[in-house]
Amino acid sequence: MSEIILEVQNLKKYYQQGSLFQKKESVKAVDDVSFVLHRKETLAIVGESGCGKSTTVKSIIRLTEPTSGKVILHGEDFTSLKGNALREARKKLKIIFQDPYSSLNPRMTVRDIIAEPIDIEKTWKTRGEREEMVLETMRLVGLDPTWINRYPHEFSGGQRQRIGIARAIILKPDIVICDEPVSALDVSIQAKIINLLKQLQEELNISYIFISHDLGVVKHIADRILVMYLGHVVEEGTSEDIFNHPSHPYTQTLLNAIPTIGVEMNESSLIDGDLPSPSNPPKGCVFHTRCPFAKEECVLKQPEVKDLGNGHQYACILNAENESE
Ligand code: ADP
Ligand code: MG
Repeated sequence: MSEIILEVQNLKKYYQQGSLFQKKESVKAVDDVSFVLHRKETLAIVGESGCGKSTTVKSIIRLTEPTSGKVILHGEDFTSLKGNALREARKKLKIIFQDPYSSLNPRMTVRDIIAEPIDIEKTWKTRGEREEMVLETMRLVGLDPTWINRYPHEFSGGQRQRIGIARAIILKPDIVICDEPVSALDVSIQAKIINLLKQLQEELNISYIFISHDLGVVKHIADRILVMYLGHVVEEGTSEDIFNHPSHPYTQTLLNAIPTIGVEMNESSLIDGDLPSPSNPPKGCVFHTRCPFAKEECVLKQPEVKDLGNGHQYACILNAENESE
């Protein structure tokens, strides 16, 4: 596999809740997450809503400061960077969100919206140069360059996401974090945006961290998949291994939740109940309260990580092959 460009080591983010005078309770949104990202790779992070996906990536880029842990970017400790060094490093690390509309200024033209990152970094000398950079980026993301004077409300949902992508790639970053970038879009548009991301990856050698609550969505883009549950990584592996040999009971329930055309959903194989509160996570294995295979042991101790080879790992006391059938 290609070189490692990002390494996340034992990342934790605990949010403190309660006022100054109340007993403080911490929300363990991310609890000891580690992984690596290779050059030109797409790593998906999946798990149901509230399991800590967004907090993981926000802590990585320090949109929120992590409680502990390290992020190594290009061999450098990103977590301790300050001032100019942090600003420089951030040029190479961009994020796009589910709803680009909320971050697009309604009074700015698409030209000025897309140019904002290059305006801030002053990467152009003449207006003509700036215009050319914007036009080139619009072409790259499949936006009609003749629409350069239009405003955000004149674009459809899919086109707005293309504007969000244009802003993210105009400085030619190495890593783009996509936090549920297609979750608000119609299925037909989702596929187009995913194809665009893949095409940009080829042209610009981008690595992606691609978040989705839907395992089905990542099937066509992920090289590797990280499955998160209640702040923990419960399984990790190549896309092929996760889809063909899901080993953690949670991954299996996520796979069962993907609808297949013409096949009726078997409700009994879907996950029961709600995600427990991360401020009071279950003892032992965090998944035991919802696990169909849970035994007494699962309540008593944290599961060890089992290695199935080829980077395929899962945290469960059960043996993948025999007990999940
Ligand atoms: P996901 O992106 O997987 O849906 P999040 O990372 O947004 O999950 O949230 C993980 C947990 O952290 C949730 O329980 C959420 O309520 C909590 N959380 C997120 N942001 C904050 C915050 N600013 N303060 C307190 N709790 C938060
Ligand atoms: Mg989220």
